[in-house]
Order: sequence, then structure tokens, then C-alpha cells
Amino acid sequence: MEEIKLQTTTVKVLQGDITKVAADVIVNAANTSLLGGGGVDGAIHRAGGKRILEECRKIREQQGGCQVGEAVVTTAGNLPASFVIHTVGPVWNGGTNGEEQKLMNCYANTLHLASKNQARSIAFPNISTGIYRFPKALAAKTALEAVSTFIRCNPESGLEQIWFVCFDEENYRIYRERLREGLEIE
Ligand code: ADP
Repeated sequence: MEEIKLQTTTVKVLQGDITKVAADVIVNAANTSLLGGGGVDGAIHRAGGKRILEECRKIREQQGGCQVGEAVVTTAGNLPASFVIHTVGPVWNGGTNGEEQKLMNCYANTLHLASKNQARSIAFPNISTGIYRFPKALAAKTALEAVSTFIRCNPESGLEQIWFVCFDEENYRIYRERLREGLEIE
């Protein structure tokens, strides 16, 4: 199962490079500095060009970066998207430091910001599951719960398409399995 419908929103899992995805919003797994980094963050800044970093620098000057669980919006530069929303996932530190709630906040705050910017489609990477070491299965469960809660609580959000773009095979498998289980619960 690679796609389910929750109310009027399609939730879909794909495998690939998020910088190639033509959604209104591409989500970046940023860090608190907003100044770029490795993994998907590096890929987005490389493919999107310097305008993204310029806007990140301005946001940093205004509000001193971005806290864990929060989200900020910039241009998408040269990417085939209208905006990039940068959110900062938690570093996994054993699981007793509010990691799940913080990851949930990333998804919820990003979805609210996308909706506020009239986005109809959004593509998420698997936030925190790379350099930040969040266990992949728990991250997928948390992400799908956050998305289904958002859809249920915000029927007028305007978000018609929510995509999870999995880079690695393991996340792709986990998300497809989770989506199947999610469908059984609905
Ligand atoms: P974090 O610091 O939040 O863990 P990473 O960028 O290290 O961020 O990893 C987050 C996820 O993004 C990982 O699952 C990684 O495989 C994935 N990833 C890396 N590059 C890309 C890309 N170009 N497109 C989509 N996902 C990517």
C-alpha cells in the first residue's frame, strides 16, 4: 500500500530524492542554525541555490534560528516547489527527552505553516532518521500519527496531497507497512 485517503487528503509514500519532487512545499530537516548541513539539508541547499540560504540568514537575524519542533518558511529557489519549510527535528537521545513529542511538533507546525501559505501539496523527508538517529519505525509511526491528527482536526486546511519521500529502502519499507496498518485502523 503506497497511498491512502484520509477524508479528502491523499497520503502517499514514495522513494527518491525530495529535491526532485514537484510539490507546493518541500520540507527540509534543518538544524537550529538554519545555515545548512549534511543529509537532506545539504541536498536542498545545493539543488535550490543561494536564495534559500539568504532567506534563512534573514530569519536567523530576526529570530535567532529555529527551535527544535518549530518551522519557518522560505522560497524554494531553483527547486520545482513554491516554498521550502525548514523544521528542526530532535536529536535522538534515548527517547526520554521528549523526542517523540518534538518530532510530532515538527510535522504539526509544518503542516499548519503550509496551510497558512495556501499549499495544496507537501513533501516530507523522514525527519530526524539520519544524522539525528531517531529510530526509523518509531519516527514513521509518529509522523503518520501527526499527519492523521492534523487532517482530522483541520478539515479546511486545503492540503490535498501529503507525501512522504523516503530516501533509503528501510524507511520506504517501514512507511508502506505503516500505511497499510493505518488503513486498517481508519
Ligand atoms: P536529520 O539530521 O534530521 O536526521 P538527515 O538529513 O541526516 O536529517 O536525514 C533525514 C532523512 O533524510 C534520512 O532518512 C535520510 O536518508 C534522508 N535523506 C537524505 N538525503 C535525502 C534526499 N535528497 N531526499 C530525501 N531524503 C533524504
